[in-house]
Amino acid sequence: ESKRAGRGRFTVFDPALDAGIRRRHDTLAALRLGLERRELVVHYQPRIDARSGRIESAEALARWQRPGHGLVPPNDFIELAEASGLIAALGEAVLDQAMSQMARWTQAGLPLKRVSVNVSPRQFESGALPDQVRGALRRHAVDPSCLELEVTESVLSGDVTQVTRQLDGLRALGVTVAMDDFGTGYSSMALLRSLPIDVMKIDRTFVRDLETDPNAVAIAHAIVALGRSLSLRLVAEGIETPGQARLLREMACDEFQGYLFGKPMAAPEFEALFTATERG
Ligand code: C2E
Ligand code: MG
Ligand code: MG
Ligand code: MG
Repeated sequence: ESKRAGRGRFTVFDPALDAGIRRRHDTLAALRLGLERRELVVHYQPRIDARSGRIESAEALARWQRPGHGLVPPNDFIELAEASGLIAALGEAVLDQAMSQMARWTQAGLPLKRVSVNVSPRQFESGALPDQVRGALRRHAVDPSCLELEVTESVLSGDVTQVTRQLDGLRALGVTVAMDDFGTGYSSMALLRSLPIDVMKIDRTFVRDLETDPNAVAIAHAIVALGRSLSLRLVAEGIETPGQARLLREMACDEFQGYLFGKPMAAPEFEALFTATERG
């Protein structure tokens, strides 16, 4: 127990809280070092063209191969990276790996249309994102149309003018922009109207309940209608059952993503799956 109460004050010492803070601190130090040591790996989840049933693109998803901890999922380190500012370097590392992989796949003749990369709202703060993206594309000689960036509605909580300017710059390059997890965040229709995007990803929470909850069907319908009228490409995420896929196909969704078609996987497995479905 702490005896180091400040002058005239009581310090409530909570060992559990202290352990939590220490763990966060240790994890951050390990993550910082891990980035330098290239422990960050990128997995790829297939996105399927709803009409042809073929793999059209892949979403790049970060994992941390942390020594002694196995493969750590992004939900265990992205938030920490965002809070500490490390997300800038992490985001750049993911982008670089994904573009390097896309270049290799293109060279190998794999007819993959694009790779999508998640971008944190904090990556818009410095204003350097368009330059970073242009640099990565150039470095790996990847066509800008082969890159899609996924942003969430939380970008709208930042400097919207700054974000919009950078998204405009990115789209001018030929990069496409997707609104990820649509329907779960701020969902300001006014801001949505002004945001330069090409794709809307219907969040998994609506897809999950499609077969059991009429309200989920109603919301999915409404999102598809909204996206359509804004001329956006519609992607449904988190599809796990053929029934969900059928309902979304009826709504004329453009692309499917979910465990039904494939979990996120390392590049060699993705390549094998892609080749198998192309042949089949
Ligand atoms: P997200 O961008 O919405 O990615 C989709 C998440 O849903 C992935 O989780 C994926 O594995 C999961 N998923 C896909 N299909 C299904 C399904 O059918 N059922 C279920 N239960 N889950 C499914 P993951 O890879 O754990 O990533 C979680 C989140 O972490 C991502 O959500 C994204 O917000 C964030 N993230 C991942 N990589 C990065 C990154 O490089 N940068 C940033 N800023 N965020 C990232
Ligand atoms: Mg995403
Ligand atoms: Mg998502
Ligand atoms: Mg998400």
